Amino acid sequence: MSSRTRRILALCTSHHLLDNPEETEETPETENADIQQIRDRSRWRKRNPQHWKVNVERRKRSDCLPYTIKKKDQPGKAPKPIVCDRCRFKCTSKITETQRGELCACYWSLFDFKRQKDFILTRVKSCVPERRRSRTGEGCERSDSKQYFFMVDGEDVRVCQAFFLKTLCISNVAVFNAFKSKDGFGCYVGEDLRGKHEPSNKTKPQEIAFVKQHIDSFRKVPSDYCRSTTQRQYLDPTLSISKMYALYREEWEKKQVMGQEQGNDGDTTGEKKKGPVSFITYKRVFGEDFNLSFFQSEEG
Ligand SMILES: [Zn+2]
Repeated sequence: MSSRTRRILALCTSHHLLDNPEETEETPETENADIQQIRDRSRWRKRNPQHWKVNVERRKRSDCLPYTIKKKDQPGKAPKPIVCDRCRFKCTSKITETQRGELCACYWSLFDFKRQKDFILTRVKSCVPERRRSRTGEGCERSDSKQYFFMVDGEDVRVCQAFFLKTLCISNVAVFNAFKSKDGFGCYVGEDLRGKHEPSNKTKPQEIAFVKQHIDSFRKVPSDYCRSTTQRQYLDPTLSISKMYALYREEWEKKQVMGQEQGNDGDTTGEKKKGPVSFITYKRVFGEDFNLSFFQSEEG
């Protein structure tokens, strides 16, 4: 290996990278690694939602495999046993267990929340019952009654509610919610709000902007080695992310004091006041929004 190669490798695997275990994983251990590849690689691992555990588990669920949601192990989706002896539709004699399995797999393989709701809406009819009033003429009224169907071999087959729910391995809440957000044409127009609320600990945009501004304020040192082939910029070798973060915290405190002196706390939203961003957040912004490294000279 040439001394030039060694210098570039030293530069690209400088000390701060060891701060980040993810980055360390991606740093090739062999000296034979393609140097151009190292130069071209973005500094930080990008978000890859496909590999997020929750999405891996959702795919398992749509494939009717055992899955884990909210730390709870769940069996694979499969029709629940049912006996329709006393049911007037005689569901179990019209639809076989194999067909039930196929219907269940079909529903879950849709994966998309809205497509599942449309699946329900096209198979469940809501109608006003013939006998609307109770016998005494007062008290609770039956507002709505539902008819459940499955399409088997191209034909609609009416089934009872229990057979419908147990075959799809869903609860009545799924049907209730589908109808709650149905438009005049029978299509589902609701949103899947599960897991969509903004977490209370989410960093405010203005705090992220301040972090970026702070990182931007450092002088960049040009590099002799990588300048021509990479967009990466270099910071003073005496710096590290930890040191920059310590300086950021000082700046943040100063900003608060200045804000108080000027008669405002810098926050007009009236929300509960938060502290400076965490080291993890600072490091994430450093890695995701900048292409910076700590320059190491040939001697150092
Ligand atoms: Zn039945």
